[in-house]
Amino acid sequence: MKIECGKLCGFCSGVNYTINKALEVLSNEDDIYCLGQIVHNERVIKSLEEKGMVTVNNIDDVPDNSKLIIRAHGEVKDVFFAAKKRNIEIIDLTCGKIKVILKKIEKEMDKSFIIIIGKKNHPETIGTLSYAGDNSSVVEDEDDILITNEKLKKSRLSRVYIVSQTTFSSRKFDELITKIKNVFDCNIDIVVDKTICDVTEKRQKEVFELSSRVDKMIIIGGKNSSNTKELAKISKNNCDQSFLVQTKEDLKNIVFSSEDNVGIMAGASTPREIIDEVIDYLNTLY
Ligand code: SF4
Repeated sequence: MKIECGKLCGFCSGVNYTINKALEVLSNEDDIYCLGQIVHNERVIKSLEEKGMVTVNNIDDVPDNSKLIIRAHGEVKDVFFAAKKRNIEIIDLTCGKIKVILKKIEKEMDKSFIIIIGKKNHPETIGTLSYAGDNSSVVEDEDDILITNEKLKKSRLSRVYIVSQTTFSSRKFDELITKIKNVFDCNIDIVVDKTICDVTEKRQKEVFELSSRVDKMIIIGGKNSSNTKELAKISKNNCDQSFLVQTKEDLKNIVFSSEDNVGIMAGASTPREIIDEVIDYLNTLY
């Protein structure tokens, strides 16, 4: 069996920063709260919870005068206001690349209708939208373009500023931009700022190339991780034998042969140790 592991497997710089900083603060204090999953990986969450992090799903579950981690995806503006009122200290671990997008939106929102191309229920998109004011919309598919066009007409703005969720599909972003340009009035000034993270784009390109030349592809990552699911989708288009696994345990249901060329890729929230365990397991087979 030949195994080829993608060069861009595993933690991106934003997730790496978030985890290291969380470990740093947890080494000094217990009971630091985190709103939502710090990253989309069960093992990482469990290990931080063992060190004193408490995951909650609502700001109301965070006690007054405590400390709250804001994860790499960022958070809605209201959380920062609520925390201030209740003397909750914010440890803001929002990825720097997402903070740049929020600043750009704040600069644009007086003169532009803001469009975020991304998944409507992704925490990063929800957080980003909260900075964009009333004249804004999320576009995830074609139907959203028509709804957004109606909202744009009502706003009477003649300029549109478009950004993206940082882990959105690069191919789908380009397709939606073409459709937006076809639907919107030709007098609208459309400014496209493709804010898909460079790491995400490179990883999507790498999985495309790798999955084109192997017999089987193993994509490692959380099943609720947006960037991992996108990698699995790209891979499946090229390689029918593509499998999304969370840990080496999930490999036990897959039949491998000694002749297989196996490609490996992992999402941005997959720790190196899980990738190594998968490779070690495959190496024991043949
Ligand atoms: S994918 Fe990019 S933008 Fe998102 S957390 Fe990682 S480094 Fe930051």
